[in-house]
Amino acid sequence: MKITILGTGTSQGVPLVGCKCEVCTSPDPKDKRLRVSVYIQTDEGTNILIDCSPDLRQQLLKNKITDIDAVLVTHEHNDHIIGLDDLRPINFMQRKEMPMYALPRVIKDIRDRFKYIFAENPYPGTPLISTIPIEKDELKIESVKISCIKYLHGMLPILGYKIGDFAYITDIKSITEEEKQKLLGLKVLIISALRPQEHFAHMNLEEALAFVQEIQPKTTYLTHMGHNIGTHAHLLDSLPANVFPAFDGQVLTI
Ligand SMILES: [Zn+2]
Ligand SMILES: [Zn+2]
Repeated sequence: MKITILGTGTSQGVPLVGCKCEVCTSPDPKDKRLRVSVYIQTDEGTNILIDCSPDLRQQLLKNKITDIDAVLVTHEHNDHIIGLDDLRPINFMQRKEMPMYALPRVIKDIRDRFKYIFAENPYPGTPLISTIPIEKDELKIESVKISCIKYLHGMLPILGYKIGDFAYITDIKSITEEEKQKLLGLKVLIISALRPQEHFAHMNLEEALAFVQEIQPKTTYLTHMGHNIGTHAHLLDSLPANVFPAFDGQVLTI
C-alpha cells in the first residue's frame, strides 16, 4: 500500500495569510502545509482519497494524481470537503460516477452545500459524485476492507479510517476505549496534533503523543498542524523515536 500525504496543515494552512512568524516565513518546503488530505493506493489496485481539501487542485497536480476510485470523508468541516469541485477533471477522465462515503449527517451537509452537483438536472460539467452513507463500522470499496473509527472532534462525532495496518485519524479530541482497541497493533498511524496549546475540538501535541504512547503504533506521523507547533526541523528534534511530523508530498509505503 502506498500513501501520499497531500496536506498537513490546519484549517487555515501554513503559512497563515499575513503572518510573519518563524514558521510562516520559513524557507523550508516542509514548513508549507496545505490543508489535510491523503491519497491511498492499495495493493488491490484501488485508489482512495480521504477528504477534499481546499487545496485539492494543487495537490492533485503536484502529486500527479489522475485516478481516484472513491472518496472517504472524515467530517463536514470546510477544510475537509470544500475542494470537492476539483474532482471534475478526474471524473472527466474516468467517465464514471465517483462514490463518496461519509456519515449520513455529513452527506446531508455536503448535498446542501453543493446543491448544484446533486440537482435533478445538474449543469453540464458538474462533478459526477454519488453519495454513500456509512451506517456500519466496516465498509468495502471494491475488494478493500475499511474499518471506520468513531471519535469526537469537540462534540462532533466524526470518522477516521483503518485499512490493514494503517490508520488515518484527523481532527480527533477524544475516543472511547472500545474504538481505541481497534487501533492496537498498527504499523503506521497518521494522527492530527494541532499545536502545543489546548483546543476544545483537537488534541494538542501532548494529548496526541499520550494517545500514541497508549496505542503504540510502530511509526506515527503527525498532521493537521498549525504554525504554533513550530518548524518541521524543531518539531522533529523534540519528538519521541518513531514519531515524525508529516510533510506535504511525503510518501509512505506499507
Ligand atoms: Zn480540520
Ligand atoms: Zn474539523
